[in-house]
Amino acid sequence: MTSSSESFDIAVIGGGPAGCISALLLKKQGFDVVLFDPDKTASRLEGIGNRLMHWFTVNGLDSVIPEPARVTRLANWNGNSNDYNFEFLVERESMDASLRGHVSEQGVALVAQTANYRKVKQAVEVTAASGSRFKVKRVIDARGRKAHSGRQSIHGPATVSIGGWLDKCASEKAFAQVIPFRDGWVWAAHPGGGQAWFQATLDAVDGKSPPLSRLRQAFDACRQQLAQPLSGDFNSILVRGCAPVIGDFTPDPQIIPVGDAAAAMDPLSGNGMFWAVSSALAASAAINTLESRPGAASEALVERHLSERIGETYYRQTRLGRDFLRMETRYRDAPFWSKRLNFPDDQALHQPIEGIQVKKSTVVDDGILKEKEILITPLEPSGVAWVDGVEATEIWSLYQSEDGLARMSDLWGEDKARWFHSWISERLAVQPPAAAPG
Ligand SMILES: Cc1cc2nc3c(=O)[nH]c(=O)nc-3n(C[C@H](O)[C@H](O)[C@H](O)COP(=O)(O)OP(=O)(O)OC[C@H]3O[C@@H](n4cnc5c(N)ncnc54)[C@H](O)[C@@H]3O)c2cc1C
Repeated sequence: MTSSSESFDIAVIGGGPAGCISALLLKKQGFDVVLFDPDKTASRLEGIGNRLMHWFTVNGLDSVIPEPARVTRLANWNGNSNDYNFEFLVERESMDASLRGHVSEQGVALVAQTANYRKVKQAVEVTAASGSRFKVKRVIDARGRKAHSGRQSIHGPATVSIGGWLDKCASEKAFAQVIPFRDGWVWAAHPGGGQAWFQATLDAVDGKSPPLSRLRQAFDACRQQLAQPLSGDFNSILVRGCAPVIGDFTPDPQIIPVGDAAAAMDPLSGNGMFWAVSSALAASAAINTLESRPGAASEALVERHLSERIGETYYRQTRLGRDFLRMETRYRDAPFWSKRLNFPDDQALHQPIEGIQVKKSTVVDDGILKEKEILITPLEPSGVAWVDGVEATEIWSLYQSEDGLARMSDLWGEDKARWFHSWISERLAVQPPAAAPG
């Protein structure tokens, strides 16, 4: 083994979206960062929602994402067709390679190898596959689902996703479509030219049939419902475990998990990359806090903030997935569906919230974690700290005062004051949501 002569503050292990965005943010904050990734992302399509695409755009990263195709997301759920949503299709092999290229251009040292790590006294020792060793102050664990093997984690029902490219699409029209069927659900996506991606999410328990024949069976079961006829044979089959999983540990100020390494969701949520990026933002704020205000108080704040955030996101997304599965009633007795209708539990997505409550929480303020009062509202059950740049609690307390509207107008002008006033009124008028179908 050799020790690297280069020295870095932070090592990021894994160069998917969570690792790349973490590395980029930390480099921007002035840290010396090294990123390890074997550069072997498998080719497949995935969908990015509008919120994440907007984040990429405002952060100047839209040009780094290779040609996302904007498509309408069709769903044939419970026998009803709808096309309310749209998404951007990205090919992950090129997207991740492009992100890593950009990260390297911004001054992050890129090592195209896997690596592992262990804590040694006040530092962390990272060992690359070549044997080179690096001593760093902190590690961002961004190894994706691989991070959960060999450690304490909580898993949902064993689920596998089998995907493959089809080279014959009768039309040039781009689309993405979710279709449930007895053994699971499929996602078919076509960016408008070239190949289409077809992916089936199934129970992982069937060890007998080879993946290709399971994929063909799923295709046969759903082909009549496809928005555009697809044909040909599958190539480049990709099999991925995709059960929801969360690490059963408290994040440590020296080793911070991000993205799937912290918690991986059901792909039905379509939220994995959004979570990857938002957890990278939380990790960089955590490191900024630890470095700018060293000490036990910051460490405790970071531990609490990260574990609450990871847990809340995981349970919100898994309950959301469960409620979506419950809405498909035609197959509820079939094994794939019945196993998942009560996972992770039977609790409502959110406890019904009536009116507006004030709660203490940890928020990111100016790049640093702080304890602050926030508002819990029926529309923002996880809490809201700012509304259009103004502290939400300030708006709420003015709203409740006798001459609230006038005082808001003095502070922010009449138009903004009216807008804040109606923002609060809208939330006070919300009725508690009905329980999810059980
Ligand atoms: C079937 C399926 C479909 C999905 N569809 C969508 C979708 O449509 N939209 C969406 O937003 N999300 C989707 N997701 C979720 C999404 O893929 C993940 O949430 C997202 O990629 C997580 O990003 P990440 O950076 O945390 O992990 P990953 O993207 O998994 O990246 C981890 C990286 O770490 C590297 N690595 C692993 N071990 C090591 C090591 N020891 N050393 C160095 N590097 C290492 C890997 O090679 C990889 O590059 C889907 C997931 C599945 C399983």
